[in-house]
Amino acid sequence: MVDARQIAEAARIIGAGGLVSFPTETVYGLGANALDEAAVERIFAAKGRPASSPLIVHVADIEMARALTREWPPLAQQWAERYWPGPLTMVLPKAAHVPDRVTAGLDTVGLRIPNHPVALALIRAAGVPIAAPSANRFMQLSPSEAQHVPAELADYFLDGGPAAVGIESTVVSLAGPVPVLLRPGVLHLEGLESGEAPAEGAAHAAPGQHARHYSPSTPLILGPPPIQGKGYRWVLPADPVQCAAELYATLHRLDRMNYDWIAVYLPPDTPVWAGVRDRLARAATPDTSPAESDHAPGESKP
Ligand code: AMP
Ligand code: MG
Repeated sequence: MVDARQIAEAARIIGAGGLVSFPTETVYGLGANALDEAAVERIFAAKGRPASSPLIVHVADIEMARALTREWPPLAQQWAERYWPGPLTMVLPKAAHVPDRVTAGLDTVGLRIPNHPVALALIRAAGVPIAAPSANRFMQLSPSEAQHVPAELADYFLDGGPAAVGIESTVVSLAGPVPVLLRPGVLHLEGLESGEAPAEGAAHAAPGQHARHYSPSTPLILGPPPIQGKGYRWVLPADPVQCAAELYATLHRLDRMNYDWIAVYLPPDTPVWAGVRDRLARAATPDTSPAESDHAPGESKP
C-alpha cells in the first residue's frame, strides 16, 4: 500500500512546509511539521478549523515526546510505556519552542505515538514531530479510510488501509494535580473510568470540544426512528471495539444512500462504550439528540 519512495516523498513535503494525509490506527491525519508555524497554519486553513482548537502532535518515540514538554511526570512515563504506541493522547506543559498556533495559545501540548507503521515511518523520515488533526473538513465525518479524505485537503496522500481502532484517541490531561479525561476513546485508564476523577467543569476546560462534530449530512437520530420519510435503522455491533472500528466507515456509507434519516439507539452508559457514545452524540442532529450535555466527555456516571 505504501512503499519507501512514497514515505520519502511525504517526508520531503512535510519538510517543505506542506500537508500530508497519513494513516494512523485511530483515523487518518492531516499532518504538518509541528515546529513550522506557517505549515501548521495551513492545516487550519485547509480544514476550516477554528484557531481555538489545539492540534495533537504525533511523535515516533518517548524521547521525542519529552523534548516537546517542560515537565514529564512519572505518570506520563508510566502511561507512555504502557499505552504507546497507541490511541492515547497525553496533554502536558509545553516546551517553549512548540508554536502557540499548534496549542491554540495554551501552555500545554497534546502528544501521542500512533500505532501504525506508516505513521511511524513518516515521522522518522521527516525527523520532526507532526501536528495532525483528522483529515476531514471541520465538523464533518472523520476519515477511517484513505478514500474518505477529501482530495483537495492535502499536498500528498498515503493509503495505509482502514484504521484499526476507528475513532479518535482518548485524550487525558496530565498538566494539573490530577489526571483529567478530556475526550473518551477506546482506551480506558484506571482511575479515570471510575467516574470519580474528572470534575464537572474540568472536561469543559478542554478547548476544541464542539458539541456538534463528526457529523454526517443525513440527520442522525438517537432513539426511536421517525414515522416520516425513508430512513435506515442502524443496529450497532454488540462489541464496543468492533463498533468503534466500523463507526465512521458505516456513517460514510450510509451518508451516501440519500436516506431522510439514520436512527440508532445509544449503547449502554458504561466505560467500554464511552468513546462510541461520545461520537454518536456529537454526530447526532441537535434537536433530536436526547441530551447532548449528558454525553459530554468526562461526565460522571449516574
Ligand atoms: P482532533 O484533532 O479533532 O482529534 O482534536 C484534538 C483534540 O485533542 C482537541 O479537540 C482537544 O480536545 C485535544 N487537545 C489537543 N491538545 C490539547 C491541549 N493542549 N489541551 C487540551 N486538549 C487538547
Ligand atoms: Mg477531528
